[in-house]
Amino acid sequence: MKLRTRIQLYIIVSLVILLIVANMSIYFLFRQVSLHNSVDRLHEQSRALAETAASVDWKDTSRTSLFQADLPTEGMVRFIGSDGQSQGVITRAEKYRELPFSFTSQEEDRTFYYDGSWYAEVSVPVIRDSGIHSMQVVEELVSLQQSFQVLKYSLTIAGLIILIPSILGGRLLGNFLLRPILALTSTMQAIRSSGKWKRMNTDSRSNDELQTLSDTFNEMVDQLEENFTKQQQFVSDASHELKTPISIIKSYSKLLDRWGADDPAVQQEAVQAIHSETERMQALVGQLLILAKDDPSLLRKETVDLGQIAKSCAAKMETAHQREISVHVTGDIMVKADSNMLKQVVYILLSNSIKYSDDVIGISVQAAQDQAILSVTDYGEGLDKEDQSRIFDRFYRVDKARTRESGGSGLGLAIAKQLVELHEGKIEVESTIGEGSTFTISLPY
Ligand code: ADP
Repeated sequence: MKLRTRIQLYIIVSLVILLIVANMSIYFLFRQVSLHNSVDRLHEQSRALAETAASVDWKDTSRTSLFQADLPTEGMVRFIGSDGQSQGVITRAEKYRELPFSFTSQEEDRTFYYDGSWYAEVSVPVIRDSGIHSMQVVEELVSLQQSFQVLKYSLTIAGLIILIPSILGGRLLGNFLLRPILALTSTMQAIRSSGKWKRMNTDSRSNDELQTLSDTFNEMVDQLEENFTKQQQFVSDASHELKTPISIIKSYSKLLDRWGADDPAVQQEAVQAIHSETERMQALVGQLLILAKDDPSLLRKETVDLGQIAKSCAAKMETAHQREISVHVTGDIMVKADSNMLKQVVYILLSNSIKYSDDVIGISVQAAQDQAILSVTDYGEGLDKEDQSRIFDRFYRVDKARTRESGGSGLGLAIAKQLVELHEGKIEVESTIGEGSTFTISLPY
């Protein structure tokens, strides 16, 4: 069943139940109050009739006219002996003689439904001829019966009249609620069939849940489109980067095939080139794998001394590259981190400084408020503002020719940023062209 039909049906069923309950409550309350009032009225009449019965013999038919003044127009008076036998009925209509009766020595009242009509009945004990008798005054509630009918019809018609606009209202409500869902479905279908990212039209005036649904969908599409474009860019950049070493390997292997057997110099050059390009490819694939593992659950966090990490990385890089690195650590800076990942970040920053500067390199570690801060400073070529904002992007290199010479792939800082962000930290650069750069990472302390 369609959602719109279901909404409509739900509204109609609830309204019908509500109307039935409300109308029945009104009807029964009205009936109860009216019957109660009729019995009260009949009590007064029966008091007057009881006074007459005390002085006039009801068996004497010539004197029964004395009861006529207080006799209900539609009703009767019946006298019942203690043996339960009827001793006489005074009435203007014979049909009332048929009504059921029983003896009671108490004053009692009741209303009852008999043969399609409502009746009020009051029983009053009458003492006469040293015996107790029961006088029953019964009135047929003709006008009340008519009122009940009229009320019944009015409530039913009113209910039906209310139901018609509510059916239309249910339809309108269904349309109103379903509009954004239908728009969402058609937007998704359009995205699927055209392969293009599309957004939902939003009415910024309303501030309701349906508006939130559209906004959330549009935000999700923005995010998906951004991620998709990034992924596409990443894959095309990665294949482009892998293309160069592959074509070098291919051309050297051809050379080797053609001249290698006869010319040892060509053989040596080709083998060396293939070896170095294979190493470059291996390093690139390793970096791509690190970037692909952007998952905080892979972190092996432990308490590590950031100063100690800076010192050990600096010592290794000093020995490997024969460059002076001055380390400055203020206090014991302990952080909760994956020490291998932190070392990788420090190696990336130090190797960049080694590549892009010739002077001494500084590395400092200190704490500031709730942050542990590690900075790597060099006095090299520096970066302009535009490059500073892009160097953390994957495959971005300021000078492609130079970085290729120095073995750079443009992935180092992207990896450093990803690893720092996995630790809920931040990486920033401050740099001036010709003066040098400072890369700073801050981690929760
Ligand atoms: P690469 O592997 O090419 O060095 P990175 O992502 O580490 O890739 O760096 C991106 C670019 O940022 C580099 O090509 C380089 O031009 C620039 N860069 C990085 N570090 C420094 C630095 N300390 N001084 C000047 N330029 C730098």
